[in-house]
Amino acid sequence: MTRAPRTPSFGTAPRASPVRAGSSPALQYPAQPMTQTACRFCGASVDGVFADLGSSPLANSYLPPERVNAMEPFYPLRALVCGRCFLVQLEQFETPQRIFSDYAYFSSYSTSWLEHARAYAEQMTERLSLDGDSHVVEIASNDGYLLQFFHQRQIPVLGIEPAANVAKVALQKGIPTLVEFFGQETARSLAQESAADLLLGNNVLAHVPDLNDFVAGMKILLAPGGVITMEFPHLIRLIEDNQWDTIYHEHFSYFSFLTVSRVFEAHGLRLYDVQELPTHGGSLRVFGAHADDAERPETDAARELRERERAAGFERIDTYLGYGRRVQEDKRRILSFLIDLKAQGLRVAGYGAPAKGNTLLNYCGIRTDFLDFTCDLNPHKQGHFLPGSHIPIRSPDAIREERPDVVLILPWNLTQEIVQQLSFVREWGGRFAARTPELTLLS
Ligand SMILES: [Zn+2]
Repeated sequence: MTRAPRTPSFGTAPRASPVRAGSSPALQYPAQPMTQTACRFCGASVDGVFADLGSSPLANSYLPPERVNAMEPFYPLRALVCGRCFLVQLEQFETPQRIFSDYAYFSSYSTSWLEHARAYAEQMTERLSLDGDSHVVEIASNDGYLLQFFHQRQIPVLGIEPAANVAKVALQKGIPTLVEFFGQETARSLAQESAADLLLGNNVLAHVPDLNDFVAGMKILLAPGGVITMEFPHLIRLIEDNQWDTIYHEHFSYFSFLTVSRVFEAHGLRLYDVQELPTHGGSLRVFGAHADDAERPETDAARELRERERAAGFERIDTYLGYGRRVQEDKRRILSFLIDLKAQGLRVAGYGAPAKGNTLLNYCGIRTDFLDFTCDLNPHKQGHFLPGSHIPIRSPDAIREERPDVVLILPWNLTQEIVQQLSFVREWGGRFAARTPELTLLS
């Protein structure tokens, strides 16, 4: 894979801009910047640009106060699309070790996500008749937020989690957790003793740099007759609901069901069922089995979704190449919206400090000139500053103290939950704004 130089850059490099009539040809930029890299899955040369979001720091590198004046590395944030397998993907500029080693995201801080995990454990225990003789393995098990629900049912579990700080929290809860990146090597070391009857991963497949090694590892670790479930944001939702802010450096791949099915097939696995979930703005939960597992025939849902994606043009390159213009239009609309609020003299605070918020703020160039501060329930983020924009992160109590006129909800997938938590904002006439997908004041 071609790697760009790791020199930090500041601000945004010159990008494609409409060329005015009569301007010198020497000053013209190509309409689509050309690039050359190998597809993360099929190895074909990838040069189609899906969305170019300029330059951004790593979305999860929150800054402690003592580093706020230090140099900060920025990397190009540009999603490409493969013309052969239609995998939408990012080029990689940093090692996974650096990206994920001190990951600040603790799953247990979102109550709706915890409920999602509880319901999943209940559903899968029933669907697969799991009991004390079964073995459930979760890849990227975070702080044990999900495995705890199997553990409570006396079903043996194992978590695999590369971030040592979050794995430690899982161990304290009594969830056996291996601090490692998952791939074929880890799978081989575990397969003998710990083959998985249920092998799951939520929001990890999209974050895997070596996609083929990861899926090949799942093939090795899956017990005969076992089931894989993986959840990840659905590319249809990203395109149709204009969720370009879910593009960030840690999120390497953006899947349609058609493309992810091809990835699993290439490794002797078969996706036989799928559920469309509302989580993260619209995710897929795919169900996989060994390719030769005759007990698990393809469901109507799987067939229907593949047909729907084909009809929506997900096997035509033009569907992907036209997306970038919509992103640019949305940036202009977001800035107009905020300029309008500030022109009215309103005070705007953010809520949440998710990766998607950092993409939005950095791509649009929003700093404390628009958002006084943001806040987050996660105490590991409080007292830090958002990467790039350097907006301070405070405790949610700051909303009550500062009484902003507008609260801009950055994790728009949790809008309902947050509006409920912060209903007291209405006591002083405060209002909420969120992307729905257009940024708008909520009524
Ligand atoms: Zn490809």
